[in-house]
Amino acid sequence: MEILSDSVPKALIKQRLDDSENIAAFKNLGKVAKIATSLFISAMSPLPILRYPDPRLHTVAKPVAKVETHHRQLSQAMLKTMYEAEGIGLAATQVDVHERLIVIDVSENRDQPLVLINPEIVWASAETRIGDEGCLSVPGIYDGVERSLAVKVESLDLDGQRQVLEAEGMLAVCIQHEMDHLMGKVFVEYLSPLKRNRIKTKMVKQKKDEEREAVR
Ligand SMILES: [Zn+2]
Repeated sequence: MEILSDSVPKALIKQRLDDSENIAAFKNLGKVAKIATSLFISAMSPLPILRYPDPRLHTVAKPVAKVETHHRQLSQAMLKTMYEAEGIGLAATQVDVHERLIVIDVSENRDQPLVLINPEIVWASAETRIGDEGCLSVPGIYDGVERSLAVKVESLDLDGQRQVLEAEGMLAVCIQHEMDHLMGKVFVEYLSPLKRNRIKTKMVKQKKDEEREAVR
């Protein structure tokens, strides 16, 4: 997910997770391994992000049967991709991996990465709000989507341990947006068919222009 930088409300994050220093990815690593990991991340190249209306964005992701090394590598590559694209969330679907895994960081300093595997919303507030959303798969497009103000999500961390997250504000919106991706749904599908078709046309044209630019 992407947001307009001047419309970022202060994220109200209420979570039972450890802070970023202790985030699961680094939980059992020593200092040396930590440095090696961050070097590995910085050396990694970002993954290509599928762009709407790519039909692969409508693939329904499968649950992760067992959290394995390649999931840890995927989540690091996805975080790198998300940070480089200045997004606040990315679903595996968007990098053409169809497993239930999302990464998020809504912190101001971009230092509180979250990885949610097999996320399930176990509670959502009846109270909703319409807020502008953007998406790394639909660059340059922002529009209002109605979302629950708060959600409670159960998921697995990178150690395969169950984690519970209570979120509101920006984080709650981002979780709902990314979980839609795992169901093959892009946020523009909440908009009117007229708006959606306009966006589709714009995206197709943008891609053609870029391709023309690239062969020059
Ligand atoms: Zn998105």
